[in-house]
Amino acid sequence: MINLHSWKEVLTALEPTQTQLIAVSKTKPVTDIQAFYDAGQRVFGENKVQEMTEKYEQLPKDIQWHLIGHLQTNKVKYIAPFVHLIHSVDSLKLLQEIEKQAAKANRTILVLLQVYIAQEETKFGMDETELKALLDVYSVQPEHFGHVKIVGLMGMATNTEDQEQIHREFRSLKTLFEQLKTIYFSEDETFREVSMGMSSDYQIAAAEGSTMVRVGSLLFGSR
Ligand SMILES: *Cc1c(COP(=O)(O)O)cnc(C)c1O
Repeated sequence: MINLHSWKEVLTALEPTQTQLIAVSKTKPVTDIQAFYDAGQRVFGENKVQEMTEKYEQLPKDIQWHLIGHLQTNKVKYIAPFVHLIHSVDSLKLLQEIEKQAAKANRTILVLLQVYIAQEETKFGMDETELKALLDVYSVQPEHFGHVKIVGLMGMATNTEDQEQIHREFRSLKTLFEQLKTIYFSEDETFREVSMGMSSDYQIAAAEGSTMVRVGSLLFGSR
């Protein structure tokens, strides 16, 4: 069951901080997405390539599609023609493949680097050393990355009841973002996104400086 009332509540809560809402529609039917579209939502997030591609084909073409899940290099080609923002870049190899497929599609694809901030074994993402190694290559050889643009960072907090821990994890991501901005993007205004916050913690994330929250179950019901 979709919940338009919660959708409006989330939008109202995000308004003061100008945080963007990514409506996470994974596992949900296109009719549910269409209902949010009709209400005015244009930005949707999916975590699987095939599912996102099928939904893209069936829905209005002015939807902005965000890939939020782990992406395998051999699947980049399927989404390169239409994806707006990939939140989950976690290796140089993947970044290079996105560059290659974006060039083929004659597009520029925006990406975020996924950072490991949680105290859990299961979450994907890079640590600070890996991030810097990737950004060293990216910033030294801009001519090799003409069709991909790193516009920020993404992270997921630990799944915990401990609100202070969630605050700390989001704060550490924001601080890391500011550091990397100073080192690598001092003359580049497009490095400005911090994607953090989901249904359970989007308000904490917004308070800690998130620019994009990825909210699913609160809008679409549980999966
Ligand atoms: C599923 C998912 C979300 C949304 O989770 P909810 O708890 O349903 O809001 C956000 N980010 C990622 C990476 C996801 O896979």
